[in-house]
Amino acid sequence: MTAVTDAGTGRILAWEDGIPLHYEYTAGVAGEAFLRALKQGRIIASKCTRCGEVRVPPRTYCLECQERTRIDIELFQSGRIAALSTAHLGKGGTKTPAPLRATFGYVTFEGVAGGMVHRILSEGRREARVGDPVAPFFAPVEQRRGSILDLKGFRTAAKRRTGND
Ligand SMILES: [Zn+2]
Repeated sequence: MTAVTDAGTGRILAWEDGIPLHYEYTAGVAGEAFLRALKQGRIIASKCTRCGEVRVPPRTYCLECQERTRIDIELFQSGRIAALSTAHLGKGGTKTPAPLRATFGYVTFEGVAGGMVHRILSEGRREARVGDPVAPFFAPVEQRRGSILDLKGFRTAAKRRTGND
């Protein structure tokens, strides 16, 4: 303990210490359903019971009309990369070698509002591009913990290239 004392009287005026606090945050109703689905290798969305908007990640209430939603719409279709960013520098500001660089993307699904930010895992030599179709790639079942990381990322489809691409 570090104390600040009055030079004249020696009385303790202040001290440094810590207050042990413990917080637990829940993911909420829709968030929990989303994480449980990821653990099962599924991506689910919500669907508004009034206007029909489908949204991922799911919400308990519709962002368009504030009506209750159903949170059990499974997304079977592939997504597309709407935005991309590759980290060229590591935490300390040092340049990361190309094979170790992480690429993150914003993945959207046709007819679905919202989207997901996650790692983009490129197949083959070509770098991922905006507009590329991607499919979710899950961790092996025994490694899943009900976390966003149960989804390892989105893989670009391994396409056979016939042009000069
Ligand atoms: Zn709605």
